[in-house]
Amino acid sequence: MVPRGENGISSMEIIDREACMGSGNCLHWAPGVFGLDDDGVAIVSGDLLGNEENVRLAAKNCPTRAIRIEEFYG
Ligand code: SF4
Repeated sequence: MVPRGENGISSMEIIDREACMGSGNCLHWAPGVFGLDDDGVAIVSGDLLGNEENVRLAAKNCPTRAIRIEEFYG
């Protein structure tokens, strides 16, 4: 089952699981929004809507550009 964040947004819609290298940077930039699953791949575990600025920073600083938020935030 694909984990979903508090807004019901599937992690698959935001995280490119093939691109994610599990660095954990996104957990630093957007604390409480991202987590790592048992495979060490980033998941959305918190609220994307209330943390837009931090999520944008996380996407910008992801070393593999694995966070795709353009379609979510516009
Ligand atoms: S910063 Fe990017 S590569 Fe690192 S865990 Fe998050 S999504 Fe994956």
